[in-house]
Amino acid sequence: MTVAQLDYKQALGGGVPFLWLNPNHRRCPGAVAEARWTMADIEAAERRFQASGKLLGSLFSDTCLDGDVIESVLQAVDWPAGQVQDTASPPGHLWIKCDHQLPIAGSIKARGGLHEVIAFAEELVSTYGFEQSHRDFSHWSDSEIQSLFNEHTIVVASTGNLGLSVGLIAKALGFKAVVHMSVEAKSWKKEKLRGCRAIIVEHDGDYTEAVRIGREAAERDPKSYFVDDENSPRLFLGYAVAALRLQRQLARNKVRVDRQNPLFVYVPCGVGGAPGGICFGLHQVFGENVHVFFSEPTQSACMLLALSEGEAGPRAVYDIGLDNTTVADGLAVSRASAMVANIVKPLVSGIYTVSDEILLRNLYLLKHEYGFSVEPSAAAGLSGSDFLLNTDAGSRYLKENTRPGSLARSNHVVWTTGGMHLPRVEYEHYWSLGRAIDDNAI
Ligand SMILES: *Cc1c(COP(=O)(O)O)cnc(C)c1O
Repeated sequence: MTVAQLDYKQALGGGVPFLWLNPNHRRCPGAVAEARWTMADIEAAERRFQASGKLLGSLFSDTCLDGDVIESVLQAVDWPAGQVQDTASPPGHLWIKCDHQLPIAGSIKARGGLHEVIAFAEELVSTYGFEQSHRDFSHWSDSEIQSLFNEHTIVVASTGNLGLSVGLIAKALGFKAVVHMSVEAKSWKKEKLRGCRAIIVEHDGDYTEAVRIGREAAERDPKSYFVDDENSPRLFLGYAVAALRLQRQLARNKVRVDRQNPLFVYVPCGVGGAPGGICFGLHQVFGENVHVFFSEPTQSACMLLALSEGEAGPRAVYDIGLDNTTVADGLAVSRASAMVANIVKPLVSGIYTVSDEILLRNLYLLKHEYGFSVEPSAAAGLSGSDFLLNTDAGSRYLKENTRPGSLARSNHVVWTTGGMHLPRVEYEHYWSLGRAIDDNAI
């Protein structure tokens, strides 16, 4: 990689794709134990999903994949062309965690959004004295509970996918829903929400601005509840449940994860909730044998900025001359969540940045090589193993953090995070751009 010699600040501020290794990774070995939450909190979220399975199955036609629980498949795939230099001795196995097919929301936001809305509904039902009903979801369609839900508004701000997840679930359960959409939100996402009678508030500003305005509006109305993507334990723990699911799917495929068999996971990052929850959950499950890398657009590298700076609150990417424009609308976030940055600081192995060109080419390759249709944000993970295996920073990471010889027995999970509902014409537009880039690269 040509930027190997560049100072990371130059690469970051210059918008050049590169792999940043987190200097605070494992600085405090007990980091997971000291975090605000424990495995018991993730398991409680998992029970909530299981309890709601039947209800969701009755509200949505596309739910059950893994029993009654919302889940996506883990698919074994071959290495994409060009990533592996020595094909005779490949660097372990590659997998794709297909959250681009996650039911209901069609993205990784399904777990977080569902968990938060259901947890709030439970709390409401119990606050209003429906004692037996708050854990027995079969009563939630009863008229008293429906009128309770109908009096309450769930408010969320989003670049698109979180709005889709929270809005669709809130409306299906019987709540009112208001979704504040930032400037990059795609119109098909707004239309889908309007179709189920959610109220859309469109903003000219970015995501951080939409969150601020949404939060203020919700505060003025005592019967509204704000899903705060910058600061939400319920979203975070919902996302973390994915770690338990991945653990089960790996075990089913007889994949071992230990010192001799390290696990590498690559997840796209926006404000940080989804990848942060997954990173936290995976460290609870696999400890130091899992290595989690986040991926951000070069112009929206807000988590990299937050983690590479000192203790003060996260700064906006505009402060270092980046403009937050990216084809990855789901990752177009200018300021990272302070809550998540604090949790993942000692846990995440590193963050790599990707240009629009890389994203579009990956989108094309995911279709060409594996038949998967994803949105641009969701294609960021595919470059993870490339950065790890084919850059100086990646080699340094492997040398310092893994046992000699263990790479051949390693497993790599690329998280594809959204795309199921992407309209065909939009997908084909991205695909043809990606193909042209791929043609030129050969
Ligand atoms: C939201 C989103 C992410 C990242 O999640 P954050 O919680 O914002 O970090 C990744 N991919 C897609 C498709 C998303 O919509």
